[in-house]
Amino acid sequence: MDIKWVPLVGKTGYILAAGALIPTYILNDREIVLVDSGLHYDPGLVSFIRAVGVSVYAVLQTHLHEDHVANNRILINRFGTRIIADAKEVEMVHSASNLRRDWRELRPETKDKYLRTYSYKIESIEDGQEEIVLRGIPFKIVPLYGHSEGHLGYVTPDGVLCTGDAILSPAMAQYSKMPYFEDIGKAIESLNRLLQTDYPYYALAHMEIIEKRDMPGLVKKNLALLERIHVEMLELINDPVTLDELVSSVMYGLGIRFGNETRNAYLKTTISSRVKYLVETGRLRRIEEDGVIRYGKVQRSIYGE
Ligand SMILES: [Zn+2]
Repeated sequence: MDIKWVPLVGKTGYILAAGALIPTYILNDREIVLVDSGLHYDPGLVSFIRAVGVSVYAVLQTHLHEDHVANNRILINRFGTRIIADAKEVEMVHSASNLRRDWRELRPETKDKYLRTYSYKIESIEDGQEEIVLRGIPFKIVPLYGHSEGHLGYVTPDGVLCTGDAILSPAMAQYSKMPYFEDIGKAIESLNRLLQTDYPYYALAHMEIIEKRDMPGLVKKNLALLERIHVEMLELINDPVTLDELVSSVMYGLGIRFGNETRNAYLKTTISSRVKYLVETGRLRRIEEDGVIRYGKVQRSIYGE
């Protein structure tokens, strides 16, 4: 793929490289900022940036999933790039004891490999911090938790909100069977927060830019997808089931492939976040018997309460 820089508005644009649409901002005539660094390692990204004659001053991370950090190490090595993310995300990838629960159960070698991906300095954005100033230029921070614990959106000085994975693009909202979210309640809050924002452009993580007028429709599509998955999950529950039983019936029932150890951990996390949400919203109940936790459907009487 030929790498190119596409201008969007003012000093904001994007680079199509590393399997992603990487938002960029021109800080000055020598330095640019990236939002996330791509889906996979792509040496062409650095060559391209060098050929243009600039260096990458910083990467603002929407979150620290592997498909958003893939070129951080090469950027640090070539340009001394600053990597910046929410403090909660940094804590999680910098110590085995802070990994999410499903990850702590992984084999030690899988865990080590995962942690090694992040073995470089990452600067923290603290809770409540509203902006980050780079070379005197402020970028607004919009908390968009839910996809991951410390997921953030960033607004460039030209008014482009980079949403990361807080909202699925139209194509993803159409075809995704089990989009990843760690906290469904917070994800829904974030979708509604996006509705309240008023920016001319939104850069979505996976290959799309949308305008303000399309945001209400896209939020509606995302909410509908989340609800459709809830309904499908409930349809799979007859007698109360354990989480592991539910995970396997959801995988078969919704036609989701089992994958390697890490993919399965992601799937388990996101299915359990949906179970938690269904319990919180009164559609599933948690039954603890002899130390075993099961989830059963809450039967609604057809005669009313
Ligand atoms: Zn992600």
